[in-house]
Amino acid sequence: MGCDSQQSDMQVDVIISGCGPVGALTGNLLGLMGVRTLLLERDVAPHGEPRAFSCDDEGLRIYQATGLLELLQKDMKETRFAEYVGGSGKRFAEVHTGQTDFGFGHTPLWFFHQPLLEGALRDGFQRFPHVELRQGMAFESVEQDARGVTVRYREVATGAVHSVRGRYLLACDGARSAVRKALGIEMSGKAYGEQWLAVSGTIDGPAPDLCRFVCDPKRPAFIATGARNQLRWEFMMMPGETREHLEKPETIAGLIAPYVDPKRVRIERAQVYTFHCLNAARWRERNVFLLGDAAHTMPPFMGQGLVSGMRDAANLAWKLKRVLHGQASDSLLDSYEQERRPHVADVQKLCVNVGHLFMARNPVVATLRDVFMRTVQRIPRVRRFIQGFEFKQPPLHAQGYYFGGPKVDPKAAEGSYFIQPKVRLESGEEVLLDQTLGNDFTVLCRWDAPAAELAAARELAESLGGRLVTFRPAQQTPKAEAPAVVDVTGKLTEWFSRHAADVVVLRPDRFVFGAVKAQRLPELRSALGV
Ligand SMILES: Cc1cc2nc3c(=O)[nH]c(=O)nc-3n(C[C@H](O)[C@H](O)[C@H](O)COP(=O)(O)OP(=O)(O)OC[C@H]3O[C@@H](n4cnc5c(N)ncnc54)[C@H](O)[C@@H]3O)c2cc1C
Repeated sequence: MGCDSQQSDMQVDVIISGCGPVGALTGNLLGLMGVRTLLLERDVAPHGEPRAFSCDDEGLRIYQATGLLELLQKDMKETRFAEYVGGSGKRFAEVHTGQTDFGFGHTPLWFFHQPLLEGALRDGFQRFPHVELRQGMAFESVEQDARGVTVRYREVATGAVHSVRGRYLLACDGARSAVRKALGIEMSGKAYGEQWLAVSGTIDGPAPDLCRFVCDPKRPAFIATGARNQLRWEFMMMPGETREHLEKPETIAGLIAPYVDPKRVRIERAQVYTFHCLNAARWRERNVFLLGDAAHTMPPFMGQGLVSGMRDAANLAWKLKRVLHGQASDSLLDSYEQERRPHVADVQKLCVNVGHLFMARNPVVATLRDVFMRTVQRIPRVRRFIQGFEFKQPPLHAQGYYFGGPKVDPKAAEGSYFIQPKVRLESGEEVLLDQTLGNDFTVLCRWDAPAAELAAARELAESLGGRLVTFRPAQQTPKAEAPAVVDVTGKLTEWFSRHAADVVVLRPDRFVFGAVKAQRLPELRSALGV
């Protein structure tokens, strides 16, 4: 990109303050879309602390969009079973994550090692000459005008101050965001009093396969095995204990001893955290946007903190690209907060509720909880709800940039996350659907749609700068003149029938913009402004 830090008139499209996981992901997504991006990161090395540990199916699908999933999965572990045990050590609930399929192409619980993940995401920038990461550079201030932002940042090693101009600034600089503070945007919500010790380590030899929530009123804890023999424990700090005491090696050895021989474990990090459940008052201020922990924080009991930031990145990146490339007006960017904020609020509520279940400290309440949870699961529908992880918040937007305005019917296709079944290519290879879609809008329809309909769908895809993808059921014979992906699972056919749709338009983030009968294509087209 050839940025000269001494010149204040240097132009990039997007400046990102903070290259944690959300900033690094956003840099990759923007890089793929051809957006000139400069990342400013205060630290010189990736974050080494044991923080985010789990990722879900939506997160994996977003990594898939960066083209880095295969690489990242080498350092991830699929977790097929999670359990909740009471103070007696007896299990009162289990979640069969390995058998859970929300339809998005991946199972919903994966563990990873944050430093490896961040390193791989940063390596991903090397694919793009128009993406640059500057480490050891701390954001200081921002000025805005009608054409963009002027960002001042400080070289940490020398104290030298530079400035850079861009069209937009993204605050991906974490919970204590300097950008948010510079804009005077308040955080509100609940700061939890409870403190937790998070410990990361590596075990020598065979590792126990664990994902256990220990709901013991004497000390709630979470234990899990990650990829490459990584172990993660989180222990609640109890009244009268101090941070210094908990972080001592001998205390840690005593805490982990019930689960694994401490002599077999190399502790890499141990740190006490306080969890918060907070939201920034606004996520956009003219040309500046807040993402990830800069916009919202939540307790880690559902492993949704980072994943929420990833959803922010996936939601905003393509909108920025369309506005920057003259394909949409600036007002499209208002839909970022409109779509994401309600979903984050719902996820936060769920994390807090799971936290209450997990952290009951009164022994009588904890015993009643265990008995209640076991009893209620005698009802098959309740058992399925828990074991099938149905309590997880579905990815759904009630309003935003969608055909037909705010959603009245929660089952309507618009605003839902499109399914990602396997499809077979002409070559015979089976791939996940997104591999055939590209990084822009997609128009999907059945292969045997009338020729005029197919032509209109193709024209719409081209005007959007995206692709037309047609599919045919596995049992129908291919025709050379009508290439199509094969719907090997039948799920695309079923989805189209359920929504009575002939044509579906997917946004680049795989949310359904519109699903209509062919005669409504002109309406859909005009809603898209093409
Ligand atoms: C103990 C613990 C366990 C967790 N477990 C999970 C989990 O299992 N799953 C999950 O999804 N989430 C989890 N989370 C939450 C998750 O870690 C965060 O949501 C995630 O790290 C947020 O990413 P981010 O990129 O927004 O911010 P951060 O990770 O905080 O990154 C911000 C980046 O900005 C940089 N920066 C800061 N100030 C400046 C500045 N002035 N200029 C330039 N750069 C700056 C920082 O150096 C850093 O690199 C957990 C959190 C904790 C504390």
